[in-house]
Amino acid sequence: MNQATDPASLIHPPTDSAIRRAAAELTAGNLVGVPTETVYGLAADATRDDAVSKIYQAKGRPSTNPLIVHTADATAARRYTSLFVGDRRNADVDSALIDQWDIASALWPGPLTVVVPRSTSIPDIVTAGRDTVAIRVPDHHVMRKLLKQCPFPLAAPSANVSNYVSPTTARHVADGLGQSVAMVLDGGRCDWGVESTIIQLNADGPRLLRPGGITAEQLRSVFGQIHVPDQDGNHTQAQVAPGQLPTHYSPDKTLVFLDRYETLLRDPSFQAPQRTGRIAFGKLNDAQRSRFDQVWVVDETGDLRRIASSLFAVLREADQSDCDLLVIDRCEESGIGRAIMDRLRRATRSVDQTH
Ligand code: AMP
Ligand code: MG
Repeated sequence: MNQATDPASLIHPPTDSAIRRAAAELTAGNLVGVPTETVYGLAADATRDDAVSKIYQAKGRPSTNPLIVHTADATAARRYTSLFVGDRRNADVDSALIDQWDIASALWPGPLTVVVPRSTSIPDIVTAGRDTVAIRVPDHHVMRKLLKQCPFPLAAPSANVSNYVSPTTARHVADGLGQSVAMVLDGGRCDWGVESTIIQLNADGPRLLRPGGITAEQLRSVFGQIHVPDQDGNHTQAQVAPGQLPTHYSPDKTLVFLDRYETLLRDPSFQAPQRTGRIAFGKLNDAQRSRFDQVWVVDETGDLRRIASSLFAVLREADQSDCDLLVIDRCEESGIGRAIMDRLRRATRSVDQTH
């Protein structure tokens, strides 16, 4: 599809007629790039095997990596979990899970994905054969309008080629996956800029599988207790979210943390690259700038929300520069900073090992 199409022509302002057309494309089993408040998604009808298989194909995503199902509201979401039978709580399910569902769903719409026992309304291809399903009600006016027009939920992973940096603009989607999508709805730049928080509901309290916009601190305040990975970001294997591979979210260029770079410079065997770029999380003075061939300041004030929101766009821009090596700051690991550092560890880890 769209072999020779100019990527820009796939992008549509979110008028009522464009949203109607997007709903029609999805109904026909095609893929549509959609804005959400976290990152852009690659959407398909979650109830159709043929449509969902196009997502895996377009992204080059392993079939073992399950997808998040998006619905217009918490009531619509109930159908896809076995926690409810019609409007009622399912008496055969541990009531602790249903209580947690009620608490979690009060945070919707928002950047929170909840992993729960699935119902039979969701095909195996979406859950990668698991007996759980990941569900989210996104908080973006365009996506919500679209969901209301679709008589089915939308499976929508981030709209990037598997393992590359997630897209935060419509242009990122059209550039990366233009050959696979019928169209991209332009909802502007994503507000959060990092993927949703994922929690799995459990009898002994929810587990944080992926940090995101809804922070561990917020979750603790509403649930009382949550299970969080240890300081190094390690879960036991049983707790790790599928698809959360160490090398996720990487730019193509070598990316290292600033402190690692300083260590490399002291290593006599390190061969300094031709051009080195610095991605900074605050203002740099002239001396700091002069050590690098190119500098990107993600946010002059060092505000973590603003850093999160621009980070992926800057990573993509730096990846397209002529620098051979990219050096990036660390940030404080509190609030959204935990999600930022989680993504950066995955983006830098494999690279660290090549040096
Ligand atoms: P993406 O939409 O690209 O951010 O990826 C969705 C992520 O959600 C996957 O990589 C998994 O880590 C997680 N996920 C989806 N379904 C499940 C599930 N049933 N159990 C645990 N994690 C899940
Ligand atoms: Mg992704």
